[in-house]
Amino acid sequence: MRSCSNWADAIMDCALGQTPEPGLAAHLVICPQCRDALQARREMAERMDEAFRRSTAVEPPSYGPERVMARIASMPRTSKPRPTAWWKWPAVGSAAAMLVVVLIAMVMWVRRPAPQTNFAALSAWRSPTQALLRPPVAAAWDTKPRLGGEFFKIKPSGEMHAQ
Ligand SMILES: [Zn+2]
Repeated sequence: MRSCSNWADAIMDCALGQTPEPGLAAHLVICPQCRDALQARREMAERMDEAFRRSTAVEPPSYGPERVMARIASMPRTSKPRPTAWWKWPAVGSAAAMLVVVLIAMVMWVRRPAPQTNFAALSAWRSPTQALLRPPVAAAWDTKPRLGGEFFKIKPSGEMHAQ
């Protein structure tokens, strides 16, 4: 003889609509607890079915894709293009004017002058460190020596002087 806990799966199957197997049917006759469990599970299954039915029965939104597609499908099909209404011309004209303005703005933006940069000042710039590292005799580097002339003299103190 199976205990009540062993019938739990069979009771759940029965609550979900399956025909009870003969063993379970015999047990349900003698066991009020399992009969109550089966009844509770049947009620739970009914509540779940009802909730599912309610969630699927919600009407689609007014302008949802289903309604829009249904409206499109119900519209009559016209094969030849309709003549343009006179009141559409101002809209076309203003759209063309906007396009022209945008094009002019784009051309002006593309052809704008490049920002001026003082390249001469940039190329003449020297790091202040260069002046500090320049030795006292450096002046001789910038001048051409005369034939037989001297670049610099070294004094007995070790000091160098450009000529
Ligand atoms: Zn039982």
